[in-house]
Order: sequence, then C-alpha cells, then structure tokens
Amino acid sequence: MPTYEYECQSCHQRVEAVQKFSDAPLSVCENCGGELRKVFSGVGIVFKGSGFYKTDSRGSASAATAPATTPSTPSTTPSTPAPAPTGASSTSGD
Ligand SMILES: [Zn+2]
Repeated sequence: MPTYEYECQSCHQRVEAVQKFSDAPLSVCENCGGELRKVFSGVGIVFKGSGFYKTDSRGSASAATAPATTPSTPSTTPSTPAPAPTGASSTSGD
C-alpha cells in the first residue's frame, strides 16, 4: 500500500497517510481545517507561499501557529513591551 504525504497549505503541517489507490485523497487538515496538498517526496516541488514566515518546518509549527479561534486584536493590548525606538539600546548600567 502506498504512503502519501500531504502538506497543509495553511499551517504547513505534514501528514502521512497510508491509503489504497481506491481511497479518496485527503483534502482537509486535521489540525486547522486547511487545504491539504499531496507532497511527492524526491521531487523538488516548491509551493507558492504567499508571504509565509516559514517554508519547511515540522514539529515547531504548533508553538508558533495559533488557531483561528483566538483573533488577536490590537485593541485588547494597550501596553506592549516594545524596546526603545531610538538606537541607544544598551543603556544598562555598569
Ligand atoms: Zn493545517
């Protein structure tokens, strides 16, 4: 039985599935519900990523990628611990 590898177009999670030829291909990501695309190992297929911060990373995706259930609105965060905008950053006393 052939092993197919899919990659989510939303969260770039890789999914391996052992399927028969008669089985319907996977199309929905179990992680985020995004679109799964079949990955052919050995062939250099480069998907056209639309400004994604990572292209190929498996394992640490769950840490950085937050589910769409928590929309981060900038209004709820009035004070952000941002560093000084000026170039003088090393102002730590001696
Ligand atoms: Zn996904």
